[in-house]
Amino acid sequence: MANLCSGCQEKFYSVAAHETHRVGNYGEPIWQQSATGKSAKNVGYARSERHCLTADEMRSLDMTQDDKGIWHNPAGDYDWSARREQPVEVTS
Ligand SMILES: [Zn+2]
Repeated sequence: MANLCSGCQEKFYSVAAHETHRVGNYGEPIWQQSATGKSAKNVGYARSERHCLTADEMRSLDMTQDDKGIWHNPAGDYDWSARREQPVEVTS
């Protein structure tokens, strides 16, 4: 199973590999402090620069593409999402 990117239509072996090819900020909120400095209000958002790397840029990060055209992470395909789904250990 691979993760298909809706942005660039490339396939990724793992969520980690997919994360590697997505760069840039999400469009952070911009805060303006009040005259007293005691509060701040949201006056807008930075332009989101979140985007996909090109194939050449991915290769420059040592990502590799297998014979099925699926991209792999250089540091291994450890799946971050799988980790989040693990049950929390409860100690009593
Ligand atoms: Zn993409």
